[in-house]
Amino acid sequence: MTESIQERVAQVQAAMAEACARAGRDVQDVGLVAVSKTFPPEYVAEAVAAGLTVFGESKVQEAAQKIPLCPARIAWHMVGHLQTNKVRHAVHLFRMIHSVDSWKLLEAIDRACDESGARVQVCIEVNVSGERSKFGLPPADVPAVLEKSTGLMRVSVAGLMTVPPFDPDPEKTRPFFATLRELREGWRAQTGLALDGLSMGMSHDFRVAIEEGATWVRVGSSLFGERPKRQPPVGLDD
Ligand SMILES: *Cc1c(COP(=O)(O)O)cnc(C)c1O
Repeated sequence: MTESIQERVAQVQAAMAEACARAGRDVQDVGLVAVSKTFPPEYVAEAVAAGLTVFGESKVQEAAQKIPLCPARIAWHMVGHLQTNKVRHAVHLFRMIHSVDSWKLLEAIDRACDESGARVQVCIEVNVSGERSKFGLPPADVPAVLEKSTGLMRVSVAGLMTVPPFDPDPEKTRPFFATLRELREGWRAQTGLALDGLSMGMSHDFRVAIEEGATWVRVGSSLFGERPKRQPPVGLDD
């Protein structure tokens, strides 16, 4: 990486502020989740020194190893696919789970919180594009999960998340972000839930995601550099 993490943080924050200005939005309303998957604790510490406080991981195992080696004041978010058998562990590690993609998983999170006293916020991941390979609930299945969620003991759904199909041109992903926002309007009316959170946008498309209403952007490589193509990450076996 030619620039320091500190410089990268400043660049991403400036780009976020510009996108907010274009959309007439308050910068305070958009949170940056620094996605540190595959990167070592030293990178996290540098980003914390540059002022970041919210970090994202996509695997429970990797997060469990990394979190104890990182500054304690971080709020950790789970952004990757979560298996039901890792839920008990996950609710202790993470303050927010962005990627809840089934009723079964949501119920398991609620049960784990009830048993352990852990508190966690969740977003429902929506497969807006209908791409087969993607995780996320099909839009048609979301209202029923939202309705049932209102009966849960410990967990309430704070918002929605999506990962559109990759396209190097962010204008091509804009319609998926806009669609999620529009779907949200209908589901709000249908369920009475506020669904204030919209987790959408990654390194190459967070600017358009903010213009389309994102309240969380999940940015990895623009902050920390390119990830090694092959897992597992250096220094961590997952
Ligand atoms: C890895 C990852 C990101 C960050 O991706 P970058 O392109 O590196 O910014 C965001 N969201 C999810 C769900 C991810 O798995």
